Amino acid sequence: MNRVILVVTGLLNRDGNQIVEAHSSATLILSGNAAILVDTSSIERRAELLNNLEEIGILPSQVDVVVLTHMHHDHIGNLELFPEARKLARVEEGDFDGIEQITNDMELIPGVTLMHTPGHTEGSMSVVVDSGDATYVITGDAIPTKDNHDRWIPPGINIDPELALSSMKCICQIGNIVIPGHGEPFTSCDER
Ligand SMILES: [Zn+2]
Repeated sequence: MNRVILVVTGLLNRDGNQIVEAHSSATLILSGNAAILVDTSSIERRAELLNNLEEIGILPSQVDVVVLTHMHHDHIGNLELFPEARKLARVEEGDFDGIEQITNDMELIPGVTLMHTPGHTEGSMSVVVDSGDATYVITGDAIPTKDNHDRWIPPGINIDPELALSSMKCICQIGNIVIPGHGEPFTSCDER
């Protein structure tokens, strides 16, 4: 059975349209002996990430896989804590030392699927987790905040607003609990 645990709850503070503070969420998936971390938050949240992992009973060295939803700094700030982990990001995000490039949607382990959800960036990727009683989608900035979902507006930073909205639609069709890039999880709307 797959368990989903929000380790760091991300934050996005705007002043008008300007982002003044950004720390991503970091989410742990536990499945049997496997530990998969989706995003690492920002360097400012390192102590919180380490403390909360410790409370869960997971050492950084026990994280097997780190999935990066995209390569923005507020999501990858603590990557160096996981030197032994397999690291995955979409190929469109670019070539980074030590990071495997994902080219197709794939099942990472049973019930945990990587899904291309472009629009915020070209290589934005979400992680779909079947926990048995719910389907979670860990979206990164494909859905940065609940507000983007509730008002149905694309991420303020995007390469293509229509593409971003179609990825949001895809996420809401597949999952019933959304863990956005920044902020608390919420229940997804009916498909748009
Ligand atoms: Zn981003």
